[in-house]
Amino acid sequence: MAKNKEQNQANYNMRTRMIDGSYGSKHWEYNHHIVPPMSASCAYRLDNVQRGAEGFAHFANPEDIDSLPIFIYDRLDEPARGMLEEKLACAEGGDIAVCFATGMAAISAAIGVTTKHGDEIVAHHTLYGCTYSLFANWLPRQGITTSFVDLKDPSAFWSSITCNTRVVYLETPVNPTLDILDIASIKKSISDVNATRPKGREILLIVDNTFATPFCQRPLQFGADIVVHSLTKNIGGFGTDMGGVVIASAKYQRDLLLYRKDFGGVLSPKGAWPILVYGLPTLAARMVNQQKSAMKIAHFLEGHPMIEKVMYPGLESFPQRELARKQMFSYDGKFAPGSVIYFVLKGSQCRAQKAAEMFIDVVAKNSRCITLAVSLGQIRTLIEAPYSMTHAALPDDLKNAIGISPGGIRLSLGLEDWHDIIADLSRALEETSADQSNYLDGAATAGS
Ligand SMILES: *Cc1c(COP(=O)(O)O)cnc(C)c1O
Repeated sequence: MAKNKEQNQANYNMRTRMIDGSYGSKHWEYNHHIVPPMSASCAYRLDNVQRGAEGFAHFANPEDIDSLPIFIYDRLDEPARGMLEEKLACAEGGDIAVCFATGMAAISAAIGVTTKHGDEIVAHHTLYGCTYSLFANWLPRQGITTSFVDLKDPSAFWSSITCNTRVVYLETPVNPTLDILDIASIKKSISDVNATRPKGREILLIVDNTFATPFCQRPLQFGADIVVHSLTKNIGGFGTDMGGVVIASAKYQRDLLLYRKDFGGVLSPKGAWPILVYGLPTLAARMVNQQKSAMKIAHFLEGHPMIEKVMYPGLESFPQRELARKQMFSYDGKFAPGSVIYFVLKGSQCRAQKAAEMFIDVVAKNSRCITLAVSLGQIRTLIEAPYSMTHAALPDDLKNAIGISPGGIRLSLGLEDWHDIIADLSRALEETSADQSNYLDGAATAGS
């Protein structure tokens, strides 16, 4: 009976599979619950020493992947997180998923299980700030160094690869400029290198898929070896809980579980539960709506006289339009350009920066549907200025070279009515324009 249900489950579409809770999970028999129980137990009762011994022997043992887990201690394995891991692996198209306390803990683990002293990483030059800091400040202490290069440029890739390169690491779309990196073509170059290497010394491709979410893009399909996510963003979706996950083929499970056991950055069951119950099941519905708003708002901004440029993969004017269509699509094959827009206000650098700050301040003061905050991918629309906020740590010349302009603004669309978002953006642009001309007139009369 249960077997039939499980077989049926595989025939359902992904949107259904991310919601359906009525199939038997090996982590918990909850056929009579509609919502999985929130577990809360640091240690588990073992009926006898034999069971305890078996539990330890089974843990992280690849031969026991399909057997019923024997729970011993939360940091090793526990039901709510285990169920979330099954669903995340399925959503991303990987064999296994291992969840961590935050996205950064997941990224640390992905690097931890794939590199050792003397190894090198080649990373795209623009990365989530803390990932950059991990690679630039902490990994070198363990003898792991990183070359930051432009992975849009194949010659930069080739000149950065050495015989010690072990990992190529990237995010796509790139935050905040929304440049897209071609996962399949980068993988092709890596495979060319790997063909010349001894077994066990191959270069692995790790992709941070947080920005796109598995709804819009599944890097494993294009040859990534490992995918990492911050569950804090769109997968969690409501902005209430932090989390991270590593998704990969089964051969990485053992090391990921042992790493998590020993470094300890495990996702708590109370943190896993809202992502399992609210986040992942609503991901598709949220993304469809957020994308629709993003498209409407990108068009509105593109037509506005105060805007210099709008970067959104869904726009016809998007420079990498073809690549976006090839790489970003939902489970049913529809183009899925995501829910984040980057746009730049007109004017010289200094003037554009002032205008952007003024504009965001007006939004922060007057808008009820757009919130000034970092983070992204939640039901609330969030706005921020990457140049002086999230990406402030990058040197100015690098920011200018890679398109993070002083007048740049990042907008992460939520679920508010898009008419309201456009109305608030429009009013704030008007107010900024009026204020800017006063400011300029004033400056002119003052003779400066
Ligand atoms: C937020 C974020 C992270 C880090 O995730 P945390 O859950 O905050 O640790 C990593 N990568 C990207 C692209 C992010 O947006």
